[in-house]
Amino acid sequence: MTRSWWGWGDDEAAVTEPELEGLATLVGARFGSAPPAPIQPPQLDSIDLPVPRVGLPASLDHLVDRTVDPHRERVRHAHGQAFRDVAMAVRGGIGTAPDIVAMPPTSDDVARLLDWASEQGVAVVPFGGGTSVVGGVTPPDGPTVTLDLAAMERVLDIDTVSRAAHVQAGALGPRIEEQLRPHGLTLRHFPQSWEFSTLGGWIATRAGGHYATRLTHVDDLVESIGAATPAGRWESRRLPGSGAGPSPDRLLLGSEGTLGVITDAWVRIQQRPTFRAQASVSFDDMPAGAQAVRALAQSGLEPANCRLLDPVEAALAGAGDGSAAVLVLGFESADHPLDAWISRALELTSDHGGRCPDGPRIVTGDSTGSSEGAAGAWRQTFLRAPYLRDGLVRLGLVVETFETAITWDRFPEFVAEVQETATAAVQRLCGAGSVSLRLTHAYPDGAAPYWTVIAPGGSDPVAVWDEIKAAVSEALLAGGGTITHHHAVGRDHAPWYQRQVPAVFASALRAARGAVDPQGVCNPGVLGVEGPTTT
Ligand SMILES: Cc1cc2nc3c(=O)[nH]c(=O)nc-3n(C[C@H](O)[C@H](O)[C@H](O)COP(=O)(O)OP(=O)(O)OC[C@H]3O[C@@H](n4cnc5c(N)ncnc54)[C@H](O)[C@@H]3O)c2cc1C
Repeated sequence: MTRSWWGWGDDEAAVTEPELEGLATLVGARFGSAPPAPIQPPQLDSIDLPVPRVGLPASLDHLVDRTVDPHRERVRHAHGQAFRDVAMAVRGGIGTAPDIVAMPPTSDDVARLLDWASEQGVAVVPFGGGTSVVGGVTPPDGPTVTLDLAAMERVLDIDTVSRAAHVQAGALGPRIEEQLRPHGLTLRHFPQSWEFSTLGGWIATRAGGHYATRLTHVDDLVESIGAATPAGRWESRRLPGSGAGPSPDRLLLGSEGTLGVITDAWVRIQQRPTFRAQASVSFDDMPAGAQAVRALAQSGLEPANCRLLDPVEAALAGAGDGSAAVLVLGFESADHPLDAWISRALELTSDHGGRCPDGPRIVTGDSTGSSEGAAGAWRQTFLRAPYLRDGLVRLGLVVETFETAITWDRFPEFVAEVQETATAAVQRLCGAGSVSLRLTHAYPDGAAPYWTVIAPGGSDPVAVWDEIKAAVSEALLAGGGTITHHHAVGRDHAPWYQRQVPAVFASALRAARGAVDPQGVCNPGVLGVEGPTTT
């Protein structure tokens, strides 16, 4: 397999020409136009990059993989996987590219590279899977080394007594599960980007995964973290919990490369679930469904899956016919049958007008990761979606998401306001298009709404999206929400993040960064830690 230099995943798995034709027909029918002609990605060698401004000293030269085409590596590491990254790359628009792509095999090599970069004033951009959707891996303007952690991908140790595993930061989702599966264990952190994102990237961005309630973010799965910083090693104790002052792990979680490079972590793992109870519940509308989600989140039942899709999202996901909102509900356990849990959950949803004519589905046995049956089909659709997104981008559409979180007391007005702002911006800039909504994660005190925009992009889809994004980001902040629930801050959200956090906290973060990275070489520009920013 060859990793795509412009879009999602592997070249060999990209949408085929017949698939693209089918998508073009659907797009034409949806927007009342002729099927759009797909953009063809340019030849890689037609992309001009400036001559590298820096080179590694001989002592670090072994960190560069000489078996790969350096031009391809620089282009591939020049961007993440947001809509704007893919839309620009497929048109040959590569902005800043790293001067060097280094691939250290050990944490000592990472430390040596940071020492050299600090001495030379060269920026270091950590790169896990490069699936950032917020400009987190986009190189800054000055001389830059992109530090790809791909060679650090092993599970180093498993503590079966405490049920924890010591994992290197560059391990991709499938590599982690592959190494845990023989022991009957699993991390169960499955963001949609799972196939091509890494443990270090998840920790650095506080990724949101599989669990819709309770263990929603990777934060909850982290026991301790090891990192290399220009000022020395940062390694916390393995502890099940600790009340000893501010937590070193909490500071690294979400640091997005600005406090150094996460090299490894101990993570909490689980026995693979063998009992499952699932149900699909329909509601007349989203407000009724949201009331049911609140009741479930406050019930203490803690469903693993509790995702509410509006009628458009339900139809897109094949979970409904577009006439009703659909709640996808699921419980899982390695220990006990879940019939009582799903029964009580269905009573609660029914109190709010939920309909589940087919009743719950009870499944027994280890089906995680299986490529067979309904679970396998769902998994394939889930993993295939980003490739289809790239197909739509090639057809000139704006296809992007934005997400947030808000407490239940403000939820109805907030969601209505943001929906109205996004719909108005899409209508004004695109003339047509959809703004659909789902709730991805639910808490006793609130939920995480997640919107998807699909609209004709006109002659400059990236500029169109930038304008929509600025409008919705303002609405999120004005309504008291967060600029992101799990997509991270990166460069794109930095101005809003700096306005969201207390000013004294922003100063404290800058001071912390100054202590571990006095030369400011660690992913400059991300989080806006360098100083005050304006939108
Ligand atoms: C199709 C698609 C689906 C997605 N689905 C989800 C989802 O379900 N949930 C979710 O939370 N996110 C999702 N994302 C966003 C993205 O996958 C996450 O932010 C993910 O955690 C990034 O991991 P990565 O290994 O690709 O990191 P990268 O993209 O390589 O890096 C992300 C940021 O972390 C820094 N970083 C990476 N590794 C390290 C390290 N070892 N030490 C220090 N800093 C580091 C980088 O410099 C960058 O700032 C999705 C993205 C796409 C394109």
